[in-house]
Amino acid sequence: MISIALLSRPGLMDPMKALLARELPGVTVSSWPEPATREAELAVCWKPEPGALAAMPKLKLIHSIAAGVDNILSDPTLPDVPLCRIVDPDITSAMTEFVLWATLYFHRDFDRVISNARDGLWRRYDQYAAKDRRVGILGLGALGTDAALRLVDLGFAVSAWSRSPKQLAGVTTFSGADALDAFLSETDILVSLLPLTPSTVGLLDAARLSRLPKGAALILCSRGEHVVTDDLVGLLRSGHLRGAVLDVFEQEPLPSDHPLWREPGVLVTPHMAAIASWETITLQVADNARRLLRGEPLLNTVDRARGY
Ligand code: NAP
Repeated sequence: MISIALLSRPGLMDPMKALLARELPGVTVSSWPEPATREAELAVCWKPEPGALAAMPKLKLIHSIAAGVDNILSDPTLPDVPLCRIVDPDITSAMTEFVLWATLYFHRDFDRVISNARDGLWRRYDQYAAKDRRVGILGLGALGTDAALRLVDLGFAVSAWSRSPKQLAGVTTFSGADALDAFLSETDILVSLLPLTPSTVGLLDAARLSRLPKGAALILCSRGEHVVTDDLVGLLRSGHLRGAVLDVFEQEPLPSDHPLWREPGVLVTPHMAAIASWETITLQVADNARRLLRGEPLLNTVDRARGY
């Protein structure tokens, strides 16, 4: 039976130990920094210590516990073995719920009325039909596609931007760096569901965010590094942008004294948009472990050259 190492901050993945033993009878599970991790063939990771994977000579597979793999690919010593990630209908649905909620938060003026309610201020705003609200999604992968289709179901005018050309019923699609400005200029509510790669880090800077129409809002569900925070705050303060729901940050947890918590127009959520359960993660890791042992194709492999 296979030997599995759990690489994360100590204790984080402890709930997986019993679940892996249930799914893979006879499995050996160790946790970093135990010496036994160096003998493992499969590494399950969240922000592994740089160099830890390179110190595992028998390693055959690296498995992320999340949809994103930026926390693993950032290790310059990463061994050249397959890398898999989690893709799961429950995670996709959870992300779509979050995107729908945050879209409605701006679309139906909850951002304004919740703030007004604190001051006992009775104020109504002009209502817009969903068809008159343009929601633009950055990234049309597992998560972006589902969110886009559900927004279409609700009647929104939905567009999306991806690296390669895509066709999706009811969605206006844009692709490639050259099309980004045109996409942004037609977006009232921007939703980021991009992976973090060298091509997408810092993508949403002052120049790009200024392309959004005045009064546009941002929903950031991808990674904090996609946005240049000072540029975002500048555009919120100048009134060019209306508000932002931020679920992800360069530094997590976001420190309690970080100014974003108190920035008017910003709602901070604690990287909660879509969280895989240990059960879901374990079932997918175990499935890929069995495939590895049988020499069958692995599920949800990452294209390491592309970075996602
Ligand atoms: P995915 O299936 O890999 O899809 C990525 C999409 O982004 C694809 O459409 C891809 O284009 C596009 N893309 C990548 N690089 C691009 C570039 N340079 N220019 C334009 N488009 C680009 O990813 P996913 O499963 O949907 O997940 C997306 C991200 O969501 C994850 O990487 C993670 O960071 C984040 N996430 C956050 C949470 C949370 O709780 N906040 C939870 C889960 C995931 P192509 O279609 O052309 O390849």
